[in-house]
Amino acid sequence: MKAIRRSGTSFAWQVNSYDGCEHGCLYCYGTTIRRKKYEDWIRPTPKMKVIGDLTKDIRWLNSSPDTKDEIRDIMLCSCTDGYQDLEPKHRITEQVIAQLIAADLPFTVLTKNTNVLRDIGLFKGYDKCRVGFTIMTLDDGLREVLEPNASPIGDRCDALAQLRAAGVSTYCSVEPIMPDKRSDPMAIVDALKDSVDLFEFGKWNHYSGESIREKTGIVYDEDYYIKVFTKLIPYLEKEGIRYCVAMHSEEFLRSHGFRFIAAQLAMDRPYLAPTKGEYCRCVVEPAIATQNPSQAHTIEAEANDHAGTCDAGEDNPDKSPTKPRRIKVSKRAALGMFERGQRPSDLARIGGITRSTLNRYYREWKARSNDKDEFQEKK
Ligand code: SF4
Repeated sequence: MKAIRRSGTSFAWQVNSYDGCEHGCLYCYGTTIRRKKYEDWIRPTPKMKVIGDLTKDIRWLNSSPDTKDEIRDIMLCSCTDGYQDLEPKHRITEQVIAQLIAADLPFTVLTKNTNVLRDIGLFKGYDKCRVGFTIMTLDDGLREVLEPNASPIGDRCDALAQLRAAGVSTYCSVEPIMPDKRSDPMAIVDALKDSVDLFEFGKWNHYSGESIREKTGIVYDEDYYIKVFTKLIPYLEKEGIRYCVAMHSEEFLRSHGFRFIAAQLAMDRPYLAPTKGEYCRCVVEPAIATQNPSQAHTIEAEANDHAGTCDAGEDNPDKSPTKPRRIKVSKRAALGMFERGQRPSDLARIGGITRSTLNRYYREWKARSNDKDEFQEKK
């Protein structure tokens, strides 16, 4: 299939209607995935061909009901924002959605742009879709720095309320939570719990963050996330708020000894608002336990890591829906794993990387960590 592609992230299938994204989020690593400079990334091009390709994909799916049944969700979009300001002119996402609905296929919209409200009439009454906004801060000043060309936070909050009032299943991606008091997930939940059916939480993958550090002074702080999740999860459980944790954050929690009492993939009917715990990716017991983290599981998750909060995952050209991806530990993945406390000896048994390369990455990571400590001390 050409338009509906497998994603390397937690969402199995995806359609991307643009190449690049005007929103220009500083934490987006779509630039890395698409190998573009930031200046080029924020000048996107419309992928007009997607519309014709999708028609062919749907024709093929209709003749392959087993594969069609396997598609539990299609992410719009995973490596761009389908409602950026190009969309009112080109209307690609609108046509994609119309085709998916006509084909009775499930989908999830994730955006940072209130242009999505144009299509409220399409979503309304279609029970195989959900529409979400990324909201990682309530502070529009911070938003202006981190997501310079996306809709203001207040407008996104209003849009969620409108969607909910229209009977559309809504969700909010609180990701990336930044280690800064302006990015408080509990405050976001409190502000939005009446208009959001499902919250998703994820921490910052800070290797995209040099410019964030320069522009905001925010520095990655692992302890911050432990404190945040230790408070947040019992609160969500107590309030009966439906939630899930982004896959890379689930692994972070596991590696810090949070004990998971259930684990279920959200991709099992994710477009339906789950009952409490039922479709959560994980339910976490917040007490720090002593169990050993599962290293192999961590590595698998890293291969499936999110790219930005639009789930900017890499297109996987593999056309087989069931064949597992071969895991190759990239430099970025290795650095992320060191950050979470794993060491070359833990990773050496993984294929696709030599011990000497791992040791070299580890030395680089150590040097960077020391820089970071110095920076924090100076602050
Ligand atoms: S994170 Fe999403 S909205 Fe932001 S620039 Fe990347 S693709 Fe666009």
